[in-house]
Amino acid sequence: MATTIAGIDLGGTKIFGAQVTLDGTGSGGTASIGTETKRSTPRSSVDDIVAAIAEVGGALDDHPPRVGLGTPGVVAPESGIVENAPNLAGFDRPVPLAELVSEAVAAPVAIGNDVNMAALGETRVGAAAGHDDVLAVWMGTGLGAGLVLDGRLRVGPNGLAGELGHTTVVPGGRRCACGGVGHVEAYIGRRALEASARERHANGEPTMLVDTAGDRPMKSKVFAKAYEAGDQVAMSLIDEGLDVLTIAIANVLVIADVTTVVLGGGLGERLADVAVERIGTGLADLHYAGAAPVIVEGSLGDHAGALGAAFHAVDSIGVR
Ligand SMILES: [Zn+2]
Repeated sequence: MATTIAGIDLGGTKIFGAQVTLDGTGSGGTASIGTETKRSTPRSSVDDIVAAIAEVGGALDDHPPRVGLGTPGVVAPESGIVENAPNLAGFDRPVPLAELVSEAVAAPVAIGNDVNMAALGETRVGAAAGHDDVLAVWMGTGLGAGLVLDGRLRVGPNGLAGELGHTTVVPGGRRCACGGVGHVEAYIGRRALEASARERHANGEPTMLVDTAGDRPMKSKVFAKAYEAGDQVAMSLIDEGLDVLTIAIANVLVIADVTTVVLGGGLGERLADVAVERIGTGLADLHYAGAAPVIVEGSLGDHAGALGAAFHAVDSIGVR
């Protein structure tokens, strides 16, 4: 009988699930769910994860049952402790999430950062399938990224490998949400773009970004519409952000020799055409050696993280 592995992607308000059937090649059928709930504590996140695992089905009836879990934040690889996940209720201090879920479902849990999981999903069954050396760049609230080398997710001893958003590209540049200076995430991602747009609006520059969003958070589609309409503030901020991001990607191409860059995330999906074009053109200017990288939009959408988490669990069999 095939063993079914459940993959869960924990978000701030949503949870996605998927399952991967081990058929000897590590790939198989998938199913997915999407739920939206309100949570207030790590325990309520654990309860929702357990419910999602049951909804995905199969995983807990098979032997050995095993679960893959993606979460926002920095995940310590050995302990499975989640840090720096302010978008999760109750995660303002380190949470031993892998341990809590593992106890709740009496099964081993392979945990990882959500964008790392998406990187693995896109590499195994998504837009980068067939490529072994992949950088995934997720433009959402911030700028997440994941690195797959030789077909395996590179996590690193601190769980930081591939964290492109917090590499420094602008000396003395803008202050990042993490406190660092000149990081990529201070230039691209909804939070940084909104802060810059509101600042420029307050300084007298008209922009439909603020006109459309009002006092509400600026959603990805607001940025995409303003860019398409030729709004000067939107265009200059997004172009600048993509150019800063391109420098960081160019550095990864040389350091890690990846052949494929996958773009995703809420803002990444809305701006995919613009981003693929601008990053591709920019990389041509920064090119050092070797074949030009493939730049593609992710193909798994909201399910990339859950699928990747299931593959992460498959990969970790025999490891822990
Ligand atoms: Zn940073």
